[in-house]
Amino acid sequence: MESTNMQHNGTLQACPVCHASVDFLQTLVIGSTDERSITHVTCTHCSHTTMVYSALSDMGTVTFGVLTDMVASEAQDLMRADAISSDDVLSAHKYFQSAQVEAHVNRK
Ligand SMILES: [Zn+2]
Repeated sequence: MESTNMQHNGTLQACPVCHASVDFLQTLVIGSTDERSITHVTCTHCSHTTMVYSALSDMGTVTFGVLTDMVASEAQDLMRADAISSDDVLSAHKYFQSAQVEAHVNRK
């Protein structure tokens, strides 16, 4: 993505795919703190969507965008989801271990 597509406030000034102007971009702030923000941007001209991450650092504002296929509501749901805990990882590991044992037994 060209850095010229970014504004200092963490939003795009043009679509990174079709280069439509900011007038064609719908933005929705998904999450923000004093120092960071995540914004979902939809281009109404070509329908591509981008997640724009922006953070303040000692060197200034760092902003980058990632093309995504998530619509705004899916991005909001993702941000509301609970973080994965270490207990969740251990449970998944145990599940796959038991599945492997069962698959191994079934092959005999
Ligand atoms: Zn576009």
